[in-house]
Order: sequence, then C-alpha cells, then structure tokens
Amino acid sequence: MFPRQPTYIGFSGVIVIAFIWTSPVQAEENYVELWRHGRYTEALQAVEEASQSTTHFSLAQVRDQSELLFLTGRVDEAIEVRRAVTARQPLPSDLVRLAEYQRYRGRWEDGEQTLERVTEQVQLLLQYDSITEEEWLALGRLNELQGADAKLVLVHYRRLQEQQNSVEAHVAVGDLALATAAYDLAATEYSAALELDAQNQEALSGLLACFHESGDRRAEEVAAKLAAINPNHPRALIIAGRRHLDLGELEDAEEALALKAAVGLLRFDQAGYETIRLRVLEFNPGFAEFDRIVSEVAARHYRFDEAVALLRAAAEIDGQDPGIRFDLALNLLRLGQDEEARVHLQAAFQDDPYNVHAFNLLEVADEMDSFAAVGDSLWHLQLPALEAEVLSTAMLDLLNQASSRLEARYEVDLERPVIVQMFRDHDAFMVRSTGLPGNAGHLGICFGRLITMDSPRARPTGTVNWQQVLWHEFVHVVTLQKTRNRMPRWLSEGVSVYEETRRERRSNSHHLPRSALSRAYQTQRRRRGSYRFYRQQRIGHHMGAEAAGIPLYADLTSHRKYGLRRHGERPGGC
Ligand SMILES: [Zn+2]
Repeated sequence: MFPRQPTYIGFSGVIVIAFIWTSPVQAEENYVELWRHGRYTEALQAVEEASQSTTHFSLAQVRDQSELLFLTGRVDEAIEVRRAVTARQPLPSDLVRLAEYQRYRGRWEDGEQTLERVTEQVQLLLQYDSITEEEWLALGRLNELQGADAKLVLVHYRRLQEQQNSVEAHVAVGDLALATAAYDLAATEYSAALELDAQNQEALSGLLACFHESGDRRAEEVAAKLAAINPNHPRALIIAGRRHLDLGELEDAEEALALKAAVGLLRFDQAGYETIRLRVLEFNPGFAEFDRIVSEVAARHYRFDEAVALLRAAAEIDGQDPGIRFDLALNLLRLGQDEEARVHLQAAFQDDPYNVHAFNLLEVADEMDSFAAVGDSLWHLQLPALEAEVLSTAMLDLLNQASSRLEARYEVDLERPVIVQMFRDHDAFMVRSTGLPGNAGHLGICFGRLITMDSPRARPTGTVNWQQVLWHEFVHVVTLQKTRNRMPRWLSEGVSVYEETRRERRSNSHHLPRSALSRAYQTQRRRRGSYRFYRQQRIGHHMGAEAAGIPLYADLTSHRKYGLRRHGERPGGC
C-alpha cells in the first residue's frame, strides 16, 4: 500500500532519493531501482535484507529504510528508525523529516519537541563557515513547518539558488509555491528542475499537481510520463483518484482512504464512510485533513451541507488550520450563511495573508454591507440600492410566479427563504460565487438555496435578460432541492433550459424592468474599476451550474422534452 497522506512527503524524500541514486555502494542498487519504480514494499524488503547481511550498514541506508517504512505506511517504525539516525547524527535534515513523520502520525507534541531540537542544531551549524545544500533546504522546510511567512522562506531558497542551479532547490521553491496556490511560479520551478533531470519524480508530480489544480490539460501528459517511471507515485495516485471522482468513476477512485471514504459518502454508504474515518483517526487523531478531503469531494458534487458538516468536524480536530477555516467559509457562503462565513474568512486571511480567495471574498463582503435587503419569509433579496428600487418588485413577482408554477409541478417543498444576491459588478458576482473574478460566460449561479447573479447593469445594455436568468436559476433551486443536490449537473442544466424556453414561449416580458433600470442609470454615476481583485491562473472552479456550453444546453433540452413526451407530462403544468 502507499502512504495515506502523500502531501506530507516533502522534499526531504527527494533529498534522500537523490542521495541514494548517487551512492556508490553496489548492494544498494537493487533496492534503489525498486524504489524508483514505485515497488516500495520490495525495496523495503531488500534494504532490510541488506542491513542483516552486511556488517557495515551506512547511515544513508538507515535513512532510506525509514523513508521506505514511511512510504509503506509503517509510520511508527519509520519514526523509530529515523530517531535512531538523529541520535547518531542530529542533522537538521533528519530532524525535520522526523518531525514531519511525527506530525503525520498526529504526535504533535513530539513533533514540536523535534523542531525545537532542530532550532538548537541550527545555532551550532551557523558556527561553521559553510553549510550543505541539503541542510540549507532543511532550514527552509523548518521555517515552513513553523508557519513562517512564505515570502521569507522564498528568500531563503532564493539565496541558495543564487549559488547553484540544483534540482532540489527548484523542487523546494516549487513545493512552497504550490502550497500557497501560486501555480505559475510552481510550474516554472518544477519545469526548471526537469530541465536538469527530466526523470525527477518530485518535479514531475509537482508539475502534475500544478496542472491539475489549474485545470491545465497538460496534466495528463505529465501523469503519463511519471507513470511510465513510477506507476505508484503517491502524489500522482491521489491526483488520479481525485480526477476519477470528479468524473464519477468511483471504481477507480478507491486508492486512498480519504478518497475511499468520499466514495462511500457519494454512494450514501454512511456506515462505510464512518468505518474508514474511525480507522484513520485511530491511527492519527490529529488528521483533520481527512474530513477536509472528503468535504472537497462533497462540495464538488454540490453537497454543500455535508461539506459544512465535514469541515466543522475537521475544525474540531484542528480549529487553527486556515485552509479548513477558509473551506468552511466558502461552503457556508454557498448555503447563504454569510455572517458566520465572514468570521472564518477573516480568521483564514489573518493566518494566511496570501490567500487571494479570502481577500477577494472579504472585499465583496464589505461591498455587500451597503446592499439593501428586500423580501419576506419566502424570498430574501440582497442587492444594491438602485437595483432594489428598480428591480426588486419585479423580481419578487417573477419568483412568486415561478414558485407557483414549478413547485407544484415538481412536487417540492422548498427550504425558505430562497436567497438571491444580485451584483452590479460582474467580478464581484464571480468572486462571491467562486472566489475568483472573471469568466464572462456566467450570468447566474445556483447553489441549491442561494442564487447569485449579475445585475443587468453589470453587462453591456441589452445583452442580458435578467428575468430569463432568474427563472433559469430558480429551476435549479427546484431541481437541486428536490434531489437534495444529488443530481447530475447535466440533468439539472437540461431541466433549467427546458423550463426557461418553455416560459419564454408563453411570455413577452423582456422590456419592462430593464428600460426602467436604464432610465435610472442616467441619474447615477457608474462605478467602475473600484475592485482590486487578485486574479490567479486557475480554470475549472468546482461549482457553477452554467459551466456547460450553449450547444450542450440545446441537446439536453431536447432530451428532456423527449423524456416528457415519452413518459407523459404531469397535469397542471404551465
Ligand atoms: Zn443553469
């Protein structure tokens, strides 16, 4: 089996690998080759045999043994073996790796003590004139583990890069950049490492992670290259698992325990999910990442209420993790629970000032403080004062009309109030919906109970029919709530487009509120360029009911129509 949480396999592993690849000892060659090809159990067996048969078992081999123990999930033994190494030679590189093992196993206090030992060793090390690259990198990693400012850690690595152009330094900067979601920088560094060593597995898997996270199609090419060398690389397997889950290929996804638990959740196998969770937490009671990984999968499948419950559980394990607090905020926003979300966003941003998503969302939250709130027990509209004045009555009429037509037809009792947030700035709308500005294709997004959408004045005059958008999104509210967000995205789209066109044929109400709003504009100064959102190279956010292209909509509509004709329509339709 491969390790349960490969993101913890940082560059110390790289250093060990690099070290042994260049080792001259003949006996090592067997296990090094096995290791290189991902045959970890056999490599471990070989190194253990070597330790018994030779009188001189080098420290490097003991390090390898501990790393292979870790890679094969025997973490307690890995800790003991690595501790033995540090007893003989307390180098920061070994101590940092030991601390990583301890943290991975949930032994936080032990990990802290080990890091304190590293700090002491650093003082000693600084008395020497020179320091090896490996130890320099370990000091950077120490800073990362102690939560130092990413920019300062980058400066530390850059100083090394000024001296020499090495694979390990590029990988270290790549890992740092990847951890702070700076995918462009990470990809540049991994590529530079690959120019020096085209077969480097950490650089390949890092590049794969960048491409995967930013929705870059080159991910497949890199994955294939890495798989040709090592089909069992932990990071590649996790990414493959996530891709399979996104594509709904559940059989292929059962690679890692967290993903396996997520599969259980997606299959509504609560008992199976709980069993795996208990097993994982028994092994590592501090492993909050487990619930977080599962929550990510739940959110990708629109199951935001479950994602929130999972993230609350994760926060109980590690309430200080800014990533968990941010994810919790994002999913609370998707449920329309803005107030609580804001508290978590502020905390996440305070802990991680490089979190551009949190920054953007807080900017929009500030902007929304000036919004008007209109509605009753059924509807809650949040929109700028001008939109409230000109559009809110027409919006409520439309929603009431949609509600009376569709709720009976689809036999659904909606959770109330349904929330509609309308934005006069497209970037603000996109940020509120996805955390990132951009993507002109989206006009409205539905999360189940919450609809976010552009105001007509966020778009060039005459290009948007807000009624059509609102109707379409309300149909998503109906279908998503009817199925408790357990519906294939394509089907929800098809039904929305079908209902939207159906309504269009029966009404001709495009002009009234938009022309009124146009007149109202003339007395208002248009606000432009007031947002300072940070953009990021990232495509393929995980929500957005409108992500599919128009031609697809047309196809789905015809399928839906066909379905209705074939199976008969319910009486009492509009
Ligand atoms: Zn839609």
